[in-house]
Amino acid sequence: MPHQPLLVAGVEVTPLCDAVGPMGEAIRRPLAEMFPGAGLPEEPWILHFHCYLIRDRAGRLTLVDTGIGGVDSPASSWAPVPGALVRELAAAGADPADVSTVILTHLHSDHAGGAVADGRPLFENARYVLQNAELEAAAGAVRDQVIDVIKGQLHVVDGDAEVAPGLRVHLTPGHTPGHQIARAGELAMTGDLVLHPAQLADPAVRYLYDDDQERAAATRAEVLASLRAEGGALLATCHFEDPFVRL
Ligand SMILES: [Zn+2]
Ligand SMILES: [Zn+2]
Repeated sequence: MPHQPLLVAGVEVTPLCDAVGPMGEAIRRPLAEMFPGAGLPEEPWILHFHCYLIRDRAGRLTLVDTGIGGVDSPASSWAPVPGALVRELAAAGADPADVSTVILTHLHSDHAGGAVADGRPLFENARYVLQNAELEAAAGAVRDQVIDVIKGQLHVVDGDAEVAPGLRVHLTPGHTPGHQIARAGELAMTGDLVLHPAQLADPAVRYLYDDDQERAAATRAEVLASLRAEGGALLATCHFEDPFVRL
């Protein structure tokens, strides 16, 4: 079931819980290895996989990230279970055809896999917003099974951009070359800018699967400092147990 929606900045934000579970065995590591130096235990990391549905005052629907996808998704080799996005959308009263904008924070398969279903774009009437640097770095199964399928609906941006009324994206590279976060007022939907609450206390804590750990840490520190300087944002994170956390 979706987590509780919140009203923020004049929009309704519903966290869709696409999946909960550990990564598959091939890439699974204890928390202590995933986040070296953070003092976390040698225990499995049980992740939530969240996407965020935004309904604005005019009834327009925007989805931030699309989760794992179905049994044939590029994420199926390592994700705990197939994604429940379509069921979650229905429980939130939304049909994929009604979504007008899909923001892909980045092209990891647990964020972009759900953009397609049965070899077709799942969100047939949506623009898929992606950073140019992320598109240029696309490779492997995500390029072949996701990007090639949605390419006619891609809305490629470069850096900061307003992608729907009151909704902006910002380039935040490091986790991937063209990672982006989305903002609606004080709400920051942070993709994989932060993966574990330990990184809020110390943004220098590295994540094993950041593409560029050095750059990711620098970007994380910069973005969190800037959000705190605004007076504190409400973060919507993909993999924390709590879908919202006040900075
Ligand atoms: Zn959840
Ligand atoms: Zn990622």
